[in-house]
Amino acid sequence: MEKEGRNGASGPGRGIPIDRRSALRLLAAAAAAIAARPAVRGAETFAAAAAPSRGAGETRPLGRTGIAVSTVGMGAMITRESDVIRYAVDHGVNYVDTADCYMGGENERIVGRALKGIRNKVILASKVHIAPVDRMIQSVEKSLKSLNTDVIDIMQLHGIGTEGEVVNGYAREALRKLIDQGKVRVPGVTTHSGQETVVRAVMKHGFYKTVLVAYNFRSDAGLKAALRKVFAGATGLSAAIRDAGAAGLGVIAMKTQAGGYTMERGALSPHQAALAWVLENPGVATTIPSMVSYAQVDENLSASGKRLGWGGKKALELYSRAIGDRHCGLCGQCKGSCPSGVDVQDVLRSLAYYDGYGQADLANRSYRELADGRNALPCFSCGTCAVQCRLGLPVGRLARRAHGLLSRTA
Ligand code: SF4
Ligand code: SF4
Repeated sequence: MEKEGRNGASGPGRGIPIDRRSALRLLAAAAAAIAARPAVRGAETFAAAAAPSRGAGETRPLGRTGIAVSTVGMGAMITRESDVIRYAVDHGVNYVDTADCYMGGENERIVGRALKGIRNKVILASKVHIAPVDRMIQSVEKSLKSLNTDVIDIMQLHGIGTEGEVVNGYAREALRKLIDQGKVRVPGVTTHSGQETVVRAVMKHGFYKTVLVAYNFRSDAGLKAALRKVFAGATGLSAAIRDAGAAGLGVIAMKTQAGGYTMERGALSPHQAALAWVLENPGVATTIPSMVSYAQVDENLSASGKRLGWGGKKALELYSRAIGDRHCGLCGQCKGSCPSGVDVQDVLRSLAYYDGYGQADLANRSYRELADGRNALPCFSCGTCAVQCRLGLPVGRLARRAHGLLSRTA
């Protein structure tokens, strides 16, 4: 089968409606051209639309890669219908994220089918785990085949959590070779534990140009602070993201909707409000909410260019109240505090896949991936939970629920 090339005549932003070409964008273009100078070989081929735009179809520069990304991207992790991905691209999404391990490899093939004929409208991101150099290269070559393309725009180290992984020599050598061979354009990382450490380590050590973080209104500041405009004086992950964006890193936010639990709609739906909150942080370039239906694409795209506003804050308050005792903010602050070694954050992340996203397979798989002795089995013989959650979650009860639901096939 003929592979879809990335260097077509049309740039990544060409599918976005004409009203983006606002006066604001023209004014911003000169500044963005300096701030977002391509720092990546090959980036000049898709640098044409690197200036930000506002309103519906909003775009922002992806750090200094020279790439402009729609602020609402497509998290394809649980998308089974390739037509939903095509629909998203047709309606202004120009960033699609997948991974070699999603759905046991099938997800990359679904994305590959979705992008047939429209590959040049999309910034395509996938992932690779740290391994010996040859194995990493083989893994990326397999991804290229599954995605039916000759180049992956953003190739990210999957799920790293330490500074040591940021400076890992195998990973850098493999990615350098892949970039030299023209198979990868931009090296990045993804993280959902030790996130602040990873973001700051990437800023410190260079090489990686993007970082994908789990980030939402429950990430660090608490709801009250989250509902104020706290980013200028922020601490924690919000500050790290703000600083990373200012330093030229392309920050991509995942898990933006705090689990995706369903609720009644208000002025903005809870999911639109959650997206709008994430995008208030100037350090965030794009978001990749998981989308499995046309309705979700419409709902999320409607949040593009919207400010949080009073209605959005109200929606977030209600949403936060509804999920308050069950959703882990993945802040990592309880790391290492279980005396029995339970990996609380990853246990609760798996539970959110089950309860929030409604993805039993993904929840089971993610729970099974926990290292030996890190699952929640000890919680059944533990008197009082010693883990102090920043959000006041009943950790022991939730962890027992996770094990009861997710260990059956483990
Ligand atoms: S109940 Fe809490 S302290 Fe006890 S094993 Fe589970 S997570 Fe650890
Ligand atoms: S359980 Fe609480 S403290 Fe631990 S990662 Fe989740 S939100 Fe943070």
